[in-house]
Amino acid sequence: MDGVLNEVTNTVHKHEQGASELQTVCGATFHCSHDELSRLTAIETRTTSKCGRCFEGGGSY
Ligand SMILES: [Zn+2]
Repeated sequence: MDGVLNEVTNTVHKHEQGASELQTVCGATFHCSHDELSRLTAIETRTTSKCGRCFEGGGSY
């Protein structure tokens, strides 16, 4: 599963399959610049928090 990290908020979002490179399922990064975002090849949540809208039951809003 791929993820998108918002480096500003330190939150991991789920990458939307078939969408553009840094598009997330929840759309929270739509207005973020690409400088603020990193593509992840794996979901890393030890040092980051998960987006509550991308990951049901995980993390907080
Ligand atoms: Zn999200």
